[in-house]
Amino acid sequence: MYCPTCGWRNADDVARCANCRQELQAAQVGAPGQPRQPYKQQEAFSSQPYAQDPFGSVPDYLVWSILVTVFCFLPFGIVAIVKSAEANSRRDMGDYDGAMRAAQSARMWTFLSLGIALAPFVIFAAVVIVCIIAATKV
Ligand SMILES: [Zn+2]
Repeated sequence: MYCPTCGWRNADDVARCANCRQELQAAQVGAPGQPRQPYKQQEAFSSQPYAQDPFGSVPDYLVWSILVTVFCFLPFGIVAIVKSAEANSRRDMGDYDGAMRAAQSARMWTFLSLGIALAPFVIFAAVVIVCIIAATKV
């Protein structure tokens, strides 16, 4: 084996380095243990996001709620943003049920805002269609 201190090539069964008298067996025991500990720490760090993975299934309506606030009905959109942020913070705290309730509420307000914005167009389209049908029947 090679001496970890000076690099001298020793026989495998010697206890001390022939060149510098460094204890080889003590160094050999310490050497494999050293890379093992940072590897364990890395494993613990990388497993942490996986432990939170079930909470990752909470849907995030924050982008949609912001979009409907800007382009659709602002008051309902703001409620949707608040509920989306609440869902995210509850998910981060580990409150899965609360996060799901808040996310469902955010989705409801998002669709309400979208519906109010689209309602005039739907009504207008319906009136136009009725007028066209009425005109062609006359
Ligand atoms: Zn040595």
